[in-house]
Amino acid sequence: MSSDVRADVAVIGTGIIGLATAWEAARRGLRVRLVGPRRGEHRGQASRAAGAMLAPFSEVAASNSAPRVALEVGERVAARDLYDPWLSLLREASGRPLTLTPGMWVVATTAGSRDAAELDAIAQAALSHGHQAERHDPGEVPGLSPARSCTAHGALWLPGEASIDSGELMSALTDALLAHAEVTWTEAEATGLHASHGGELAITCATSLRISVPRVVLAVGVGLTDLLAGSQDLELALPPILAGKGVSALLRNVPLSLPTAVRTPMRDFACGMHLVPRTDGRIYLGATNRLCPSGTASYPLVMELADLLREAGEELSTQLFEGEIVGTSVGYRPFTLDHLPLVGPTADPRVLIASGTYRNGMLLAPRLAEMIADHLTVGAVAEHPFAPTRTITPDALPETLDRWLPDLVNLFLTPQGTPTAMQGVLADLLHQSLRGLATDESHPRGAAVRRTWQQAPVPEALWSLLVAYLR
Ligand SMILES: Cc1cc2nc3c(=O)[nH]c(=O)nc-3n(C[C@H](O)[C@H](O)[C@H](O)COP(=O)(O)OP(=O)(O)OC[C@H]3O[C@@H](n4cnc5c(N)ncnc54)[C@H](O)[C@@H]3O)c2cc1C
Repeated sequence: MSSDVRADVAVIGTGIIGLATAWEAARRGLRVRLVGPRRGEHRGQASRAAGAMLAPFSEVAASNSAPRVALEVGERVAARDLYDPWLSLLREASGRPLTLTPGMWVVATTAGSRDAAELDAIAQAALSHGHQAERHDPGEVPGLSPARSCTAHGALWLPGEASIDSGELMSALTDALLAHAEVTWTEAEATGLHASHGGELAITCATSLRISVPRVVLAVGVGLTDLLAGSQDLELALPPILAGKGVSALLRNVPLSLPTAVRTPMRDFACGMHLVPRTDGRIYLGATNRLCPSGTASYPLVMELADLLREAGEELSTQLFEGEIVGTSVGYRPFTLDHLPLVGPTADPRVLIASGTYRNGMLLAPRLAEMIADHLTVGAVAEHPFAPTRTITPDALPETLDRWLPDLVNLFLTPQGTPTAMQGVLADLLHQSLRGLATDESHPRGAAVRRTWQQAPVPEALWSLLVAYLR
């Protein structure tokens, strides 16, 4: 069955990136065909599972190189600058109030082995971009009351950051798109992209629908691997997209006042613990991050939820233990081997991609939407670091082990419980064993470790290497 609705572009994927891109393209006068789920639970979708901190600075890690920090923070600041005007337009188009909560507290605690350095790096990133970063005593942070086992020893107030309710934002974008005359929303799963007659592209769908369009934007998050598997007659030359499974929880009746979001710095391959106030008085609690095959699980493991609740309670507020859990979410963050997004034309200029936003997609959405709309309408766009056809050279295993094994050991053994020297010894032993396994062709478990590393040569895979060894 073929569809007779004509469109200038189809956007496949209905997370924050697909919705923001479709809306921006329609606002620029293009006829847009949006393909992807609208109703339902959206289990596994990153966008609705997100805390939606708009965090240009507090996502900086002290271990990142200065050029890398400058690149990432520059892009995030550009996105943050777009946000308030974008929300105003969205309020008008959707009729929804959409509350943005300004400011962010970042707290250094003894649960992080380098939190003081992390706070310095975050403050430096904000100041060097002309934003404020105020040092405070942790006692001044509203809502902060960690367990006795975990001391808060520093706090930073970042007035340039903010947070928003991801569910409300997705609903507002949905309403704005449904109200737009130039947008047709097809609630279907795309199964493949194919060359069609007259230089057009055909999108095949699980419903047996076939949609012909001149151009397509892929915004399917971690669904990319499956979609590309069904699109083999096109040469897109896209790098792999990996999936970082994130678990979050929604609490109510927590006996604490939380006017703004409170978070720890980045640690242990994740974005730290964070509490984000929702407008209805509930508290969002996030988040874990584990490299996983995408979409393998729609529910949290008991272990993931237990770690999340315990760590957030101990590090941020024991009051959380008094609250009620009203929901949990699982979302798969799309990320690339160099951890930068993919934005723009693929090797086939008719197919564009907007993805790989990892931990920052809620913040980056209006910026990516603008970049894709520029590619679609103007053609020539300002140079940016997210070209999908760039060469990505991941670090080799030995360098990754050198840099990241101490963090992995930290994840297993909290600093309060183990002398630092023993952590160093364990990191050293693990280093030698994993390095040996990766090179020793004769070791029976080496093959599984090598295969795992080849599939995902990123620091987040270190945990998976141990799992591969166990199996
Ligand atoms: C727990 C968690 C916390 C986070 N916190 C933050 C935060 O505080 N701040 C921030 O900026 N970012 C945060 N992020 C990151 C952010 O959520 C992601 O970067 C962003 O949501 C990715 O958006 P997306 O649209 O690319 O992917 P998704 O939101 O995953 O959406 C992809 C959509 O494509 C659809 N799809 C897939 N395949 C197909 C197909 N074949 N056909 C049609 N549709 C398809 C899926 O159903 C899905 O709806 C967080 C993520 C998680 C998981």
